[in-house]
Parts: sequence; C-alpha cells; structure tokens
Amino acid sequence: EDMNVDIVVVGSGGAGLSAAIEAKEAGKSVVILEQMPIIGGNTNRATGGLNAAETTIQADNGIKDSKKVFYEDTLKGGKGKNDPALLQTLVDNAPDAIYWLNDMGAGIARVSLSGGATNPRIHTPADGSPIGPVVVETLSKKLKELKVDIMLQTKAVKLITENGAVTGVEAVDKNNNSFKVNAKAVIMATGGFGANSEMVVKYRPELKGFSTTNHSGATGTGIAMAEEAGADLMQIGEIQIHPTTDPKSGYLFTEGLRGDGAILINKEAKRFTNELLTRDVVSQNILKQRDKVAYLITNQAIADDNASLAGYIKDGYAKKGDDIASLAKELGLDATTLEATMKTYNQFIKDGKDTEFERVHLTHSLEQGPFYAIEVTPGVHHTMGGLKIDTKTHVLNKEGKVLSGLYAAGEVVGGVHGGNRIGGNAVADIIVFGRIAGQTAAAELK
Ligand code: ADP
Repeated sequence: EDMNVDIVVVGSGGAGLSAAIEAKEAGKSVVILEQMPIIGGNTNRATGGLNAAETTIQADNGIKDSKKVFYEDTLKGGKGKNDPALLQTLVDNAPDAIYWLNDMGAGIARVSLSGGATNPRIHTPADGSPIGPVVVETLSKKLKELKVDIMLQTKAVKLITENGAVTGVEAVDKNNNSFKVNAKAVIMATGGFGANSEMVVKYRPELKGFSTTNHSGATGTGIAMAEEAGADLMQIGEIQIHPTTDPKSGYLFTEGLRGDGAILINKEAKRFTNELLTRDVVSQNILKQRDKVAYLITNQAIADDNASLAGYIKDGYAKKGDDIASLAKELGLDATTLEATMKTYNQFIKDGKDTEFERVHLTHSLEQGPFYAIEVTPGVHHTMGGLKIDTKTHVLNKEGKVLSGLYAAGEVVGGVHGGNRIGGNAVADIIVFGRIAGQTAAAELK
C-alpha cells in the first residue's frame, strides 16, 4: 500500500540512521527503507573508529592534535583530490559527532594512532572493540525510542520525480509487492558499490577478481537511481583496496592493529614497508610480495590490549608460536631470517628509530611470546566516488544545480575522501553528513 511521509530515508547504515534521528527530532514524520533482513549495512563492519581532532577525549589523554593537521593529513592521504568544502565540513563537525553518539550512550573513550594520521585521533570504544556495531546499536536504540519505523527487506527501486523535483520512491517489499512512498524529501543513504564486482570492474578493470570486505548489499543501487533522476557523479573511479583482508573470505583485519604494534612481513620472513603508510601504499607494497600476501605479526601483549585481535585469534585467523622459531615453522618460513627480522625491529623500538622503513610511533616491542601471524592480502574496501553533493548534502545535477527534494550522505556520496580514504574517516563521514542531511531536509520541508 502506498505511504505518505515527510521524509523517506533509503538505507539503514550509519548515515541513514543518523539522518532519520535528526529529521524525527526536528518534528518530521520519517520512514527508513532497508533492502536487507538486518540493519546496519557496511557500518556493521567498521572495525576501526571515528577520526576527530581537538576533542575532549584527546585532551583528557594528553594528545596534541589540530583540525588543521587533520585536514592536511586527509587531503594528503586523498592525493589532494578531496572536495575542500566537504572535507572542511567533515573536520569541523567530527568532534560533535562523537559527543552526539556518547550522549546516546556509545561510550567512545579511547584514542589510538592509525594509518595516514600524524597524531592519535581515531576514537574507539573504551575496550578497543570495533566501532561499527556500537554505532548501529546506539542509533537504532534511539530510533526505537523515537518510534521511527525501519522497513526491512524493502528495497527502493526508483525515485519519483515531478517537474524535476524528487517527491518519493518506488519500493518493493519482502513479498515482492510494489508500492510508493510519497515524500517531501528523499535522503539517499544506500552506501557504496564495493560488493558489485561488475560496477567495480567497469570503473577499474584492474580490480577484476579481487575479493571484497563489503556486505552483499553494497551494490550501488542508490547511485543508479539518483543518476536516472539527473544527479551528477563525482570521482566514481576512486575505489580503495584495504591492505589487510583474509585471502579466503575478504574478512577485514582492522588497521588499528598496526597502530597498536603489529608489523608486516613477507614470505621471505622480512619486513618490506612502513606499516603505517596510507592504505593504498601499503596495499601496493603487499601486492609486490610473493603470492601477493603478507603476515601481520603480533604477540600476546598486543592481544591482551586489543579486543579485535583477541577476536581474530579466537576465530582461528591466526597461527601461533611460543617463540619466533616455532612461529616460523608454523608459517613454513626460514626461522633464522625471521629471528633476525624480529631482532632488528625490536632494536628499532629500543632506539626509537626505524632506520629501514622509517616507521614512527614505535610503541610495542615484539620480544615476548607467544607470537601470532595472520595472513593478509588487499581486497576492495571502499568506493570513494559517488553522488555529487554540496556541504548541506543537496544532490547536484549535471549543471551544478540542486536537485530539489533529494539529499545524500555516506558512502553513496563522492568527494569527501578524494583518491584514498584514511581509516577512521568513514565513520566520521556517515555521522557528520547523515546528521546534516536529516537537519537540512527537515528545515527545508515546504
Ligand atoms: P553508510 O556507511 O554510507 O551509512 P552502509 O553500507 O552502512 O552505508 O549502509 C547502506 C545501507 O543501505 C545498507 O544496509 C544497504 O543494504 C542499504 N541499501 C542499499 N541500497 C538500497 C535500496 N535500493 N533500498 C533499500 N536499502 C538499500
């Protein structure tokens, strides 16, 4: 049966859920459509944290950082391709995103270092557990309180337009019944297209055959629907591969693990890169190694401090050795070489200087066993390109004009991350722009 609401949100990841909360709190009627049987999309898989600079949490931990350096790090990581206004909006609003989540009980309290960041600024739950599920749970609990309906297994298939303005969506429910949601505004929060290998290969032929870290609903339908309604696309070929995924399943091992002390070695039992370079560079460096794989080496001390690593070990992803020689044996590597590699690295820790690969933040020595090794290879992770928006999340058409009635936020959007996304910026992105989309759409309702 057809529905009438003020605002329809398509997609229930972090961006869609945030938008819906803001719109509802502004007094509008809201419904969320979600094609999958569960909410949360790729946000469920966000393993790292949320980047923000000049936060009270950083101050409490004695960390010096600035919005200016955050902006510059992100622009550098994005190869200078980030849309400056969108990036500034991200940086300016990231601290508030954390406080907003914490006001709802998210408990974000810890700051770590992550790839591509000059200073520790990736904010995570206190025990270092993955942020995605915490964000989804926090937001969905709030939506329950606000009595916002989330229609599962309900897929938006087409935008309805009248005189060039978007006035709702056509959708299909779980029983395959078509219906219309008539609305004054549509917020597109459908995520990226990392799981649509055809679309990935269309824009980046060399990524044929790559596995993906994405949930199966990351198919880019929102991009197609908006394009059909006249939306312009931005940097659609910018696709990120994540350096450390399971070669068999594409399961992602958090980047924070390297920040927390893990090193990478190849099948020659040698280090080959500064582990804390940006994702694209570390990925390229792994692809140059034998069999295009590497091993993340950690020890028990790191696992005791990092809930994610403890989980990977429990789930059987890691091989274990009580000392380096037995770890080498487990991996089929040369023990003498691995021992020499570890000795050199541990000396760098003592000296505070990595003269081989110039890794900084040499914090955790890897002297004490037991040791763990996780085999990794790069997989398709994030699609940086997407719909072209302005800083108020209005979707723009090919003439650069606002497509009336249509707003977009999250991975469906292009330009925020430029040519490469820094770890910790996706969660900042979806909360910051999701909130703006909900606020703007509500404020502009006629
Ligand atoms: P973001 O991080 O930008 O919020 P996510 O991937 O976390 O993106 O969430 C996007 C959600 O949108 C996913 O749960 C996905 O299943 C859903 N989705 C994608 N396309 C559609 C569609 N056409 N109709 C309904 N839901 C959709």
